[in-house]
Amino acid sequence: MLNGFKNAVELDFSLEENRKKLEEAFAQVDAEKGRIYPLMIGGEKIETEKKIVSISPATKEVLGYACSCSQELADQAIRTAHEAFASWSLTPAEERIRCLRRLTCLIEENRFILDAWNVEESGKNWGEADGELCEALDFFNSYAMHMEELDKGLELVPTDEFTKCIYIPIGVGAIVPPWNFPLSICGGMVASALVTGNCVICKPSSDTPIVAYKFMELCLKAGFPAGAVNYIPGSGSEIGDYIVEHPLTRFINFTGSKTVGCRINERAAKVAEGQKWLKRVVAEMGGKNAIIVDSTADIKKAAQGIASSAFTFQGQKCSACSRALVMSDVYDELVEEVVACARTLKEDQGSGRRNAAMGPVINQAAYDSITGYVEVARKEGNIVYGGNYSDAEGFYIEPTVVRDVDKDARIANEEIFGPVLAIVKVESFDKALEIANQTEYGLTGSVYSETRENIRKAKLNFHVGNLYFNRKSTAAVVLQHPFGGFNMSGTDAKTGTKDYLTNFLNLKSITEDLK
Ligand code: NAP
Repeated sequence: MLNGFKNAVELDFSLEENRKKLEEAFAQVDAEKGRIYPLMIGGEKIETEKKIVSISPATKEVLGYACSCSQELADQAIRTAHEAFASWSLTPAEERIRCLRRLTCLIEENRFILDAWNVEESGKNWGEADGELCEALDFFNSYAMHMEELDKGLELVPTDEFTKCIYIPIGVGAIVPPWNFPLSICGGMVASALVTGNCVICKPSSDTPIVAYKFMELCLKAGFPAGAVNYIPGSGSEIGDYIVEHPLTRFINFTGSKTVGCRINERAAKVAEGQKWLKRVVAEMGGKNAIIVDSTADIKKAAQGIASSAFTFQGQKCSACSRALVMSDVYDELVEEVVACARTLKEDQGSGRRNAAMGPVINQAAYDSITGYVEVARKEGNIVYGGNYSDAEGFYIEPTVVRDVDKDARIANEEIFGPVLAIVKVESFDKALEIANQTEYGLTGSVYSETRENIRKAKLNFHVGNLYFNRKSTAAVVLQHPFGGFNMSGTDAKTGTKDYLTNFLNLKSITEDLK
Protein backbone atom coordinates (compact mmCIF):
# COMPACT_ATOMS: atom_id res chain seq x y z
CA MET A 1 0.00 0.00 0.00
CA LEU A 2 2.89 2.37 0.69
CA ASN A 3 4.59 1.49 -2.56
CA GLY A 4 3.43 4.64 -4.34
CA PHE A 5 4.68 6.93 -1.58
CA LYS A 6 7.94 8.80 -2.10
CA ASN A 7 9.59 11.08 0.45
CA ALA A 8 10.26 14.62 -0.79
CA VAL A 9 13.85 15.43 -1.72
CA GLU A 10 15.70 18.39 -0.19
CA LEU A 11 17.02 21.15 -2.42
CA ASP A 12 20.69 21.04 -3.29
CA PHE A 13 22.04 24.40 -2.22
CA SER A 14 25.42 23.73 -3.78
CA LEU A 15 23.65 24.56 -7.06
CA GLU A 16 23.95 28.21 -8.06
CA GLU A 17 20.37 28.23 -9.33
CA ASN A 18 18.93 27.24 -5.93
CA ARG A 19 21.17 29.64 -4.02
CA LYS A 20 20.09 32.48 -6.28
CA LYS A 21 16.39 31.70 -5.79
CA LEU A 22 16.80 31.63 -2.02
CA GLU A 23 18.70 34.93 -2.03
CA GLU A 24 15.82 36.43 -4.05
CA ALA A 25 13.40 35.08 -1.47
CA PHE A 26 15.44 36.72 1.31
CA ALA A 27 15.15 40.02 -0.57
CA GLN A 28 11.38 39.52 -0.64
CA VAL A 29 11.41 38.80 3.11
CA ASP A 30 13.32 42.06 3.66
CA ALA A 31 10.72 43.94 1.65
CA GLU A 32 7.93 42.39 3.76
CA LYS A 33 9.54 43.08 7.14
CA GLY A 34 7.47 45.05 9.63
CA ARG A 35 4.11 43.96 8.18
CA ILE A 36 1.03 43.30 10.28
CA TYR A 37 -0.50 39.82 10.15
CA PRO A 38 -4.23 39.77 10.97
CA LEU A 39 -6.29 36.97 12.47
CA MET A 40 -8.20 34.85 9.96
CA ILE A 41 -11.67 33.88 11.14
CA GLY A 42 -14.14 32.47 8.64
CA GLY A 43 -12.14 34.01 5.79
CA GLU A 44 -12.29 37.47 7.35
CA LYS A 45 -8.98 39.15 8.12
CA ILE A 46 -9.27 40.87 11.47
CA GLU A 47 -6.77 43.34 12.89
CA THR A 48 -6.52 43.82 16.64
CA GLU A 49 -4.81 46.53 18.61
CA LYS A 50 -2.63 44.22 20.65
CA LYS A 51 0.27 42.68 18.71
CA ILE A 52 2.71 39.81 19.09
CA VAL A 53 6.12 40.96 17.85
CA SER A 54 8.00 38.38 15.80
CA ILE A 55 11.74 38.84 16.31
CA SER A 56 14.68 37.38 14.44
CA PRO A 57 16.60 35.20 16.91
CA ALA A 58 19.76 35.80 14.88
CA THR A 59 19.70 39.61 14.96
CA LYS A 60 16.84 40.67 17.28
CA GLU A 61 15.42 42.63 14.35
CA VAL A 62 11.62 42.98 14.22
CA LEU A 63 10.25 40.75 11.46
CA GLY A 64 6.57 41.60 11.77
CA TYR A 65 3.57 41.95 14.03
CA ALA A 66 0.91 39.29 14.46
CA CYS A 67 -2.43 40.49 15.75
CA SER A 68 -3.18 39.02 19.14
CA CYS A 69 -6.50 37.25 19.56
CA SER A 70 -8.70 38.07 22.57
CA GLN A 71 -10.91 35.49 24.32
CA GLU A 72 -13.93 37.11 22.65
CA LEU A 73 -12.45 36.62 19.17
CA ALA A 74 -11.31 33.11 20.09
CA ASP A 75 -14.94 32.35 20.94
CA GLN A 76 -15.98 33.77 17.54
CA ALA A 77 -13.38 31.56 15.81
CA ILE A 78 -14.55 28.41 17.62
CA ARG A 79 -18.21 29.14 16.82
CA THR A 80 -17.32 29.85 13.18
CA ALA A 81 -15.46 26.54 12.97
CA HIS A 82 -18.39 24.77 14.65
CA GLU A 83 -20.80 26.16 12.06
CA ALA A 84 -18.49 25.25 9.19
CA PHE A 85 -18.28 21.70 10.54
CA ALA A 86 -21.91 21.09 9.57
CA SER A 87 -21.01 21.15 5.86
CA TRP A 88 -17.27 20.34 5.84
CA SER A 89 -17.88 17.13 7.80
CA LEU A 90 -20.26 15.98 5.04
CA THR A 91 -17.94 16.95 2.19
CA PRO A 92 -16.80 13.75 0.44
CA ALA A 93 -13.30 12.58 1.38
CA GLU A 94 -12.35 12.81 -2.28
CA GLU A 95 -12.86 16.59 -2.21
CA ARG A 96 -10.95 16.98 1.07
CA ILE A 97 -8.07 14.96 -0.34
CA ARG A 98 -8.08 17.10 -3.48
CA CYS A 99 -7.64 20.23 -1.30
CA LEU A 100 -4.72 18.58 0.50
CA ARG A 101 -3.07 17.56 -2.78
CA ARG A 102 -3.53 21.14 -3.99
CA LEU A 103 -1.92 22.40 -0.75
CA THR A 104 1.11 20.22 -1.49
CA CYS A 105 1.42 21.88 -4.92
CA LEU A 106 1.15 25.33 -3.35
CA ILE A 107 3.86 24.55 -0.79
CA GLU A 108 6.13 23.46 -3.63
CA GLU A 109 5.32 26.61 -5.61
CA ASN A 110 6.14 28.77 -2.59
CA ARG A 111 9.11 26.71 -1.48
CA PHE A 112 11.82 29.38 -1.48
CA ILE A 113 9.82 32.08 0.26
CA LEU A 114 8.63 29.62 2.92
CA ASP A 115 12.23 28.46 3.46
CA ALA A 116 13.43 32.06 3.70
CA TRP A 117 10.80 33.04 6.26
CA ASN A 118 11.52 29.91 8.30
CA VAL A 119 15.25 30.77 8.34
CA GLU A 120 14.50 34.29 9.54
CA GLU A 121 11.83 33.46 12.09
CA SER A 122 13.00 30.19 13.66
CA GLY A 123 16.78 30.62 13.21
CA LYS A 124 17.30 27.50 11.08
CA ASN A 125 19.92 27.30 8.35
CA TRP A 126 19.01 26.69 4.71
CA GLY A 127 19.20 22.91 4.77
CA GLU A 128 17.28 22.68 8.02
CA ALA A 129 14.50 24.93 6.70
CA ASP A 130 14.19 23.03 3.43
CA GLY A 131 14.39 19.69 5.28
CA GLU A 132 11.41 20.87 7.32
CA LEU A 133 9.51 21.83 4.18
CA CYS A 134 10.12 18.31 2.83
CA GLU A 135 8.75 16.88 6.06
CA ALA A 136 5.64 19.03 5.64
CA LEU A 137 5.19 17.71 2.07
CA ASP A 138 5.63 14.16 3.34
CA PHE A 139 2.98 14.68 6.00
CA PHE A 140 0.49 16.06 3.48
CA ASN A 141 1.14 13.33 0.92
CA SER A 142 0.94 10.59 3.55
CA TYR A 143 -2.28 11.96 5.08
CA ALA A 144 -3.88 12.24 1.62
CA MET A 145 -2.92 8.63 0.92
CA HIS A 146 -4.14 7.36 4.31
CA MET A 147 -7.45 9.22 4.00
CA GLU A 148 -8.11 7.44 0.72
CA GLU A 149 -7.70 4.12 2.56
CA LEU A 150 -9.74 5.16 5.59
CA ASP A 151 -12.54 6.32 3.33
CA LYS A 152 -13.10 2.68 2.35
CA GLY A 153 -14.20 2.06 5.95
CA LEU A 154 -13.43 -0.96 8.07
CA GLU A 155 -13.51 -4.42 6.53
CA LEU A 156 -16.23 -6.56 8.15
CA VAL A 157 -17.17 -10.21 8.23
CA PRO A 158 -19.96 -10.84 5.64
CA THR A 159 -23.44 -11.45 7.11
CA ASP A 160 -26.95 -11.58 5.73
CA GLU A 161 -27.47 -8.02 6.97
CA PHE A 162 -26.40 -4.90 5.08
CA THR A 163 -23.49 -3.53 7.11
CA LYS A 164 -20.73 -1.02 6.86
CA CYS A 165 -18.38 0.71 9.24
CA ILE A 166 -17.29 4.19 8.28
CA TYR A 167 -14.92 6.81 9.64
CA ILE A 168 -16.52 10.17 10.39
CA PRO A 169 -14.97 13.47 11.54
CA ILE A 170 -15.48 14.59 15.13
CA GLY A 171 -15.65 18.40 15.31
CA VAL A 172 -13.61 21.49 16.07
CA GLY A 173 -9.95 21.00 16.88
CA ALA A 174 -7.72 23.44 18.73
CA ILE A 175 -4.30 23.13 17.09
CA VAL A 176 -1.46 24.25 19.35
CA PRO A 177 1.99 23.76 17.79
CA PRO A 178 5.48 24.64 19.09
CA TRP A 179 7.82 27.19 17.52
CA ASN A 180 10.60 24.83 16.45
CA PHE A 181 8.92 23.32 13.34
CA PRO A 182 6.53 26.12 12.39
CA LEU A 183 5.77 24.62 8.98
CA SER A 184 5.91 20.84 9.30
CA ILE A 185 4.54 20.33 12.81
CA CYS A 186 2.00 23.15 12.61
CA GLY A 187 1.15 22.13 9.03
CA GLY A 188 0.89 18.42 9.80
CA MET A 189 -1.38 19.07 12.79
CA VAL A 190 -3.69 21.33 10.78
CA ALA A 191 -3.73 19.21 7.60
CA SER A 192 -4.47 15.94 9.42
CA ALA A 193 -7.52 17.53 11.07
CA LEU A 194 -8.79 19.12 7.85
CA VAL A 195 -8.41 16.09 5.60
CA THR A 196 -10.35 13.99 8.09
CA GLY A 197 -13.25 16.45 7.80
CA ASN A 198 -12.72 18.47 10.95
CA CYS A 199 -12.49 22.25 11.35
CA VAL A 200 -9.61 23.96 13.10
CA ILE A 201 -8.64 26.96 15.09
CA CYS A 202 -4.86 27.21 14.96
CA LYS A 203 -3.10 29.08 17.73
CA PRO A 204 0.51 29.22 16.50
CA SER A 205 3.51 29.70 18.75
CA SER A 206 4.08 33.34 19.66
CA ASP A 207 7.64 32.96 18.35
CA THR A 208 6.73 31.92 14.80
CA PRO A 209 3.36 33.42 13.83
CA ILE A 210 4.51 34.58 10.38
CA VAL A 211 5.41 31.16 8.96
CA ALA A 212 2.12 29.85 10.39
CA TYR A 213 0.19 32.74 8.77
CA LYS A 214 1.72 32.02 5.38
CA PHE A 215 0.82 28.36 5.74
CA MET A 216 -2.78 29.07 6.76
CA GLU A 217 -3.18 31.44 3.81
CA LEU A 218 -2.12 28.60 1.52
CA CYS A 219 -4.70 26.31 3.18
CA LEU A 220 -7.41 28.78 2.15
CA LYS A 221 -5.96 29.08 -1.33
CA ALA A 222 -5.94 25.28 -1.62
CA GLY A 223 -9.72 25.29 -1.25
CA PHE A 224 -10.27 24.30 2.37
CA PRO A 225 -13.39 26.28 3.39
CA ALA A 226 -12.81 29.59 5.16
CA GLY A 227 -14.79 28.56 8.24
CA ALA A 228 -12.74 25.39 8.62
CA VAL A 229 -9.41 27.24 8.63
CA ASN A 230 -9.07 29.76 11.43
CA TYR A 231 -5.83 31.41 12.49
CA ILE A 232 -5.77 32.99 15.94
CA PRO A 233 -2.33 33.87 17.29
CA GLY A 234 -2.39 34.83 20.95
CA SER A 235 -0.29 34.18 23.97
CA GLY A 236 -0.77 30.77 25.52
CA SER A 237 -1.36 32.36 28.89
CA GLU A 238 -4.14 34.59 27.54
CA ILE A 239 -6.18 32.34 25.27
CA GLY A 240 -4.61 28.90 25.78
CA ASP A 241 -6.82 27.74 28.63
CA TYR A 242 -9.82 29.40 27.02
CA ILE A 243 -9.68 27.46 23.76
CA VAL A 244 -8.88 24.20 25.56
CA GLU A 245 -11.82 24.57 27.96
CA HIS A 246 -14.35 25.88 25.43
CA PRO A 247 -17.40 23.56 25.32
CA LEU A 248 -17.41 23.48 21.50
CA THR A 249 -13.77 22.35 21.30
CA ARG A 250 -13.91 18.65 20.47
CA PHE A 251 -10.19 17.83 20.44
CA ILE A 252 -6.85 19.44 21.16
CA ASN A 253 -3.81 18.58 19.09
CA PHE A 254 -0.81 19.88 21.01
CA THR A 255 2.93 19.65 20.51
CA GLY A 256 5.25 21.41 22.94
CA SER A 257 6.63 21.21 26.45
CA LYS A 258 5.63 18.73 29.12
CA THR A 259 4.44 21.51 31.42
CA VAL A 260 1.97 22.95 28.91
CA GLY A 261 0.95 19.48 27.64
CA CYS A 262 0.07 18.31 31.16
CA ARG A 263 -1.87 21.49 31.81
CA ILE A 264 -3.89 21.02 28.61
CA ASN A 265 -4.56 17.37 29.40
CA GLU A 266 -5.85 18.24 32.85
CA ARG A 267 -8.03 21.16 31.70
CA ALA A 268 -9.45 19.24 28.73
CA ALA A 269 -10.57 16.45 31.05
CA LYS A 270 -13.04 18.69 32.85
CA VAL A 271 -16.47 18.65 31.22
CA ALA A 272 -17.72 22.21 30.64
CA GLU A 273 -21.33 23.33 30.95
CA GLY A 274 -23.15 22.35 27.74
CA GLN A 275 -20.34 20.11 26.50
CA LYS A 276 -21.57 16.90 24.86
CA TRP A 277 -18.37 14.85 24.60
CA LEU A 278 -15.17 13.90 26.29
CA LYS A 279 -12.39 15.83 24.60
CA ARG A 280 -9.59 14.00 22.93
CA VAL A 281 -6.08 15.23 23.60
CA VAL A 282 -3.12 14.37 21.42
CA ALA A 283 -0.06 15.70 23.21
CA GLU A 284 3.47 15.28 21.92
CA MET A 285 5.87 16.69 24.51
CA GLY A 286 9.51 17.03 25.54
CA GLY A 287 12.38 14.61 25.95
CA LYS A 288 15.70 13.93 27.63
CA ASN A 289 17.10 11.72 24.94
CA ALA A 290 20.06 9.45 25.59
CA ILE A 291 22.62 7.86 23.31
CA ILE A 292 24.41 4.79 24.71
CA VAL A 293 27.92 3.94 23.53
CA ASP A 294 29.33 0.55 24.46
CA SER A 295 32.92 -0.69 24.32
CA THR A 296 32.48 -2.32 20.91
CA ALA A 297 31.09 0.77 19.16
CA ASP A 298 32.74 2.58 16.28
CA ILE A 299 33.78 5.54 18.44
CA LYS A 300 34.28 8.08 15.65
CA LYS A 301 30.89 7.30 14.17
CA ALA A 302 29.28 7.43 17.64
CA ALA A 303 30.87 10.82 18.40
CA GLN A 304 29.66 12.25 15.09
CA GLY A 305 26.14 10.95 15.72
CA ILE A 306 26.10 12.34 19.27
CA ALA A 307 27.42 15.78 18.25
CA SER A 308 25.02 16.03 15.33
CA SER A 309 22.05 14.97 17.50
CA ALA A 310 23.06 17.30 20.33
CA PHE A 311 24.08 20.46 18.49
CA THR A 312 22.44 20.81 15.07
CA PHE A 313 19.64 23.35 15.22
CA GLN A 314 21.25 24.27 18.55
CA GLY A 315 19.82 21.21 20.30
CA GLN A 316 16.30 22.55 19.82
CA LYS A 317 14.78 19.44 18.25
CA CYS A 318 12.61 17.39 20.58
CA SER A 319 14.62 14.37 19.39
CA ALA A 320 17.99 15.99 20.23
CA CYS A 321 20.47 13.99 22.28
CA SER A 322 21.25 15.68 25.58
CA ARG A 323 22.84 12.76 27.44
CA ALA A 324 25.54 10.37 26.27
CA LEU A 325 25.93 7.25 28.43
CA VAL A 326 29.36 5.85 27.69
CA MET A 327 31.16 2.72 28.91
CA SER A 328 34.20 3.61 31.01
CA ASP A 329 36.84 1.93 28.79
CA VAL A 330 35.93 4.12 25.78
CA TYR A 331 34.86 7.20 27.74
CA ASP A 332 37.94 9.42 27.30
CA GLU A 333 38.29 8.59 23.62
CA LEU A 334 34.60 9.31 22.96
CA VAL A 335 34.70 12.63 24.85
CA GLU A 336 37.72 13.73 22.82
CA GLU A 337 36.02 12.88 19.53
CA VAL A 338 32.78 14.68 20.53
CA VAL A 339 34.82 17.78 21.42
CA ALA A 340 36.47 17.66 17.99
CA CYS A 341 33.04 17.59 16.31
CA ALA A 342 31.74 20.41 18.54
CA ARG A 343 34.79 22.50 17.63
CA THR A 344 34.02 22.17 13.92
CA LEU A 345 30.42 23.26 14.52
CA LYS A 346 31.42 26.23 16.69
CA GLU A 347 33.82 27.48 14.04
CA ASP A 348 30.78 27.92 11.83
CA GLN A 349 28.34 29.53 14.25
CA GLY A 350 26.26 32.45 12.99
CA SER A 351 22.94 33.34 11.41
CA GLY A 352 20.80 30.93 9.44
CA ARG A 353 20.66 33.52 6.70
CA ARG A 354 24.37 33.11 6.04
CA ASN A 355 23.74 29.37 6.31
CA ALA A 356 25.97 28.78 9.35
CA ALA A 357 26.22 25.23 10.70
CA MET A 358 24.98 26.39 14.12
CA GLY A 359 22.65 29.33 14.68
CA PRO A 360 20.95 31.14 17.56
CA VAL A 361 18.48 29.80 20.12
CA ILE A 362 14.94 31.04 19.68
CA ASN A 363 14.44 33.89 22.15
CA GLN A 364 15.56 35.66 25.32
CA ALA A 365 13.64 33.31 27.63
CA ALA A 366 15.21 30.23 26.01
CA TYR A 367 18.64 31.89 26.11
CA ASP A 368 18.24 32.68 29.82
CA SER A 369 17.04 29.17 30.63
CA ILE A 370 19.77 27.39 28.65
CA THR A 371 22.60 29.61 29.92
CA GLY A 372 21.24 28.98 33.42
CA TYR A 373 21.80 25.27 32.75
CA VAL A 374 25.34 26.03 31.47
CA GLU A 375 26.04 27.52 34.89
CA VAL A 376 24.52 24.48 36.61
CA ALA A 377 26.77 22.36 34.37
CA ARG A 378 29.87 24.11 35.72
CA LYS A 379 28.94 22.80 39.17
CA GLU A 380 27.68 19.38 38.12
CA GLY A 381 30.55 18.38 35.82
CA ASN A 382 33.54 19.61 33.86
CA ILE A 383 32.86 21.70 30.79
CA VAL A 384 35.47 20.45 28.35
CA TYR A 385 34.24 22.46 25.41
CA GLY A 386 32.05 25.57 24.95
CA GLY A 387 30.30 27.15 27.91
CA ASN A 388 30.37 30.68 26.47
CA TYR A 389 27.39 32.66 25.30
CA SER A 390 26.33 36.11 24.18
CA ASP A 391 23.03 37.84 23.53
CA ALA A 392 24.59 41.05 22.27
CA GLU A 393 23.34 40.66 18.68
CA GLY A 394 21.28 37.49 18.68
CA PHE A 395 20.86 34.59 21.10
CA TYR A 396 24.07 32.60 20.64
CA ILE A 397 25.30 29.78 22.87
CA GLU A 398 28.37 27.67 22.08
CA PRO A 399 27.99 23.91 21.73
CA THR A 400 28.76 22.85 25.29
CA VAL A 401 30.22 19.47 26.21
CA VAL A 402 30.12 18.49 29.89
CA ARG A 403 31.98 15.41 31.14
CA ASP A 404 32.08 13.65 34.51
CA VAL A 405 28.36 14.19 35.06
CA ASP A 406 26.60 12.05 37.67
CA LYS A 407 23.57 10.09 36.43
CA ASP A 408 21.35 11.91 38.94
CA ALA A 409 22.58 15.41 38.10
CA ARG A 410 19.97 17.91 36.99
CA ILE A 411 21.63 18.34 33.59
CA ALA A 412 21.34 14.57 33.09
CA ASN A 413 17.62 14.47 33.84
CA GLU A 414 15.90 17.77 32.98
CA GLU A 415 15.07 18.84 29.42
CA ILE A 416 17.34 21.78 28.50
CA PHE A 417 16.29 22.25 24.87
CA GLY A 418 19.57 23.83 23.88
CA PRO A 419 23.14 22.88 22.90
CA VAL A 420 24.28 21.37 26.21
CA LEU A 421 25.44 17.74 26.27
CA ALA A 422 26.00 15.80 29.51
CA ILE A 423 28.34 12.79 29.21
CA VAL A 424 27.88 10.17 31.93
CA LYS A 425 30.33 7.31 32.53
CA VAL A 426 28.73 3.86 32.94
CA GLU A 427 30.21 0.58 34.14
CA SER A 428 28.02 -1.85 32.21
CA PHE A 429 25.53 -1.96 29.37
CA ASP A 430 22.74 -2.99 31.77
CA LYS A 431 23.49 0.06 33.92
CA ALA A 432 23.42 2.27 30.82
CA LEU A 433 19.94 0.99 29.96
CA GLU A 434 18.77 1.56 33.53
CA ILE A 435 20.00 5.18 33.43
CA ALA A 436 18.57 5.74 29.95
CA ASN A 437 15.13 4.76 31.31
CA GLN A 438 15.33 6.68 34.58
CA THR A 439 13.90 10.03 33.41
CA GLU A 440 10.19 10.74 33.15
CA TYR A 441 10.50 11.01 29.36
CA GLY A 442 10.64 8.40 26.58
CA LEU A 443 10.96 10.10 23.21
CA THR A 444 14.06 9.06 21.25
CA GLY A 445 17.15 7.02 22.02
CA SER A 446 20.07 5.53 20.22
CA VAL A 447 22.68 2.83 20.83
CA TYR A 448 26.11 2.53 19.24
CA SER A 449 27.26 -1.07 19.58
CA GLU A 450 28.63 -3.95 17.52
CA THR A 451 27.44 -6.52 20.09
CA ARG A 452 24.26 -8.34 19.04
CA GLU A 453 23.40 -9.28 22.63
CA ASN A 454 23.42 -5.58 23.67
CA ILE A 455 21.37 -4.61 20.65
CA ARG A 456 18.86 -7.34 21.51
CA LYS A 457 18.65 -6.16 25.13
CA ALA A 458 18.14 -2.54 24.08
CA LYS A 459 15.38 -3.48 21.63
CA LEU A 460 13.51 -5.04 24.56
CA ASN A 461 14.39 -2.68 27.38
CA PHE A 462 15.19 0.81 26.07
CA HIS A 463 11.75 2.42 26.48
CA VAL A 464 11.41 5.19 23.93
CA GLY A 465 9.01 5.87 21.07
CA ASN A 466 11.84 6.09 18.52
CA LEU A 467 14.83 3.82 19.01
CA TYR A 468 17.84 3.79 16.70
CA PHE A 469 20.99 1.71 16.39
CA ASN A 470 24.34 2.95 15.13
CA ARG A 471 22.83 6.21 13.92
CA LYS A 472 21.86 9.56 15.39
CA SER A 473 18.68 10.10 17.39
CA THR A 474 17.40 12.96 15.21
CA ALA A 475 16.20 13.18 11.59
CA ALA A 476 13.14 10.94 11.64
CA VAL A 477 11.67 10.68 8.15
CA VAL A 478 7.90 10.43 7.59
CA LEU A 479 6.77 6.80 7.08
CA GLN A 480 10.34 5.59 7.59
CA HIS A 481 10.49 6.39 11.32
CA PRO A 482 6.94 7.16 12.57
CA PHE A 483 7.44 9.69 15.33
CA GLY A 484 5.98 9.96 18.85
CA GLY A 485 7.02 9.42 22.44
CA PHE A 486 6.19 7.39 25.54
CA ASN A 487 5.59 8.47 29.14
CA MET A 488 5.90 12.24 29.65
CA SER A 489 7.07 12.60 26.06
CA GLY A 490 3.52 12.22 24.85
CA THR A 491 0.54 10.17 23.80
CA ASP A 492 2.61 8.34 21.17
CA ALA A 493 0.51 9.58 18.28
CA LYS A 494 3.06 8.51 15.61
CA THR A 495 2.77 11.33 13.11
CA GLY A 496 2.56 10.52 9.42
CA THR A 497 0.74 7.22 9.97
CA LYS A 498 -2.80 6.10 9.21
CA ASP A 499 -3.29 5.52 12.96
CA TYR A 500 -2.52 9.19 13.55
CA LEU A 501 -5.56 10.23 11.50
CA THR A 502 -7.87 8.03 13.57
CA ASN A 503 -7.27 10.40 16.50
CA PHE A 504 -9.57 12.81 14.68
CA LEU A 505 -12.21 10.32 13.54
CA ASN A 506 -15.05 8.29 15.03
CA LEU A 507 -15.89 4.88 13.66
CA LYS A 508 -19.61 4.45 12.94
CA SER A 509 -20.99 0.95 12.57
CA ILE A 510 -24.17 0.82 10.43
CA THR A 511 -26.37 -2.24 10.10
CA GLU A 512 -29.61 -2.75 8.18
CA ASP A 513 -31.74 -5.86 8.45
CA LEU A 514 -32.88 -6.71 4.93
CA LYS A 515 -35.24 -9.59 5.72
P1 NAP B 1 5.61 25.36 24.74
O1 NAP B 1 6.16 26.50 25.50
O2 NAP B 1 4.98 24.26 25.49
O3 NAP B 1 4.54 26.00 23.70
C1 NAP B 1 3.88 25.18 22.76
C2 NAP B 1 2.57 25.86 22.38
O4 NAP B 1 1.70 25.88 23.52
C3 NAP B 1 2.75 27.32 21.95
O5 NAP B 1 1.88 27.59 20.89
C4 NAP B 1 2.33 28.06 23.20
O6 NAP B 1 1.90 29.37 22.95
C5 NAP B 1 1.19 27.20 23.67
N1 NAP B 1 0.76 27.41 25.06
C6 NAP B 1 1.45 27.94 26.09
N2 NAP B 1 0.67 27.94 27.21
C7 NAP B 1 -0.51 27.38 26.86
C8 NAP B 1 -1.71 27.09 27.58
N3 NAP B 1 -1.88 27.36 28.87
N4 NAP B 1 -2.73 26.51 26.90
C9 NAP B 1 -2.62 26.22 25.58
N5 NAP B 1 -1.49 26.48 24.86
C10 NAP B 1 -0.46 27.05 25.49
O7 NAP B 1 6.72 24.70 23.79
P2 NAP B 1 7.72 25.39 22.77
O8 NAP B 1 8.75 26.16 23.52
O9 NAP B 1 6.97 26.07 21.70
O10 NAP B 1 8.42 24.11 22.09
C11 NAP B 1 9.46 23.42 22.70
C12 NAP B 1 8.96 22.18 23.41
O11 NAP B 1 8.22 21.38 22.50
C13 NAP B 1 10.09 21.29 23.92
O12 NAP B 1 9.75 20.77 25.16
C14 NAP B 1 10.17 20.18 22.86
O13 NAP B 1 10.74 18.99 23.32
C15 NAP B 1 8.71 20.04 22.53
N6 NAP B 1 8.50 19.43 21.20
C16 NAP B 1 8.06 18.15 21.14
C17 NAP B 1 7.87 17.53 19.92
C18 NAP B 1 7.38 16.10 19.82
O14 NAP B 1 7.03 15.66 18.72
N7 NAP B 1 7.34 15.36 20.92
C19 NAP B 1 8.15 18.24 18.74
C20 NAP B 1 8.60 19.56 18.83
C21 NAP B 1 8.77 20.15 20.07
P3 NAP B 1 2.88 30.62 23.20
O15 NAP B 1 3.97 30.49 22.21
O16 NAP B 1 2.01 31.78 22.96
O17 NAP B 1 3.37 30.50 24.62
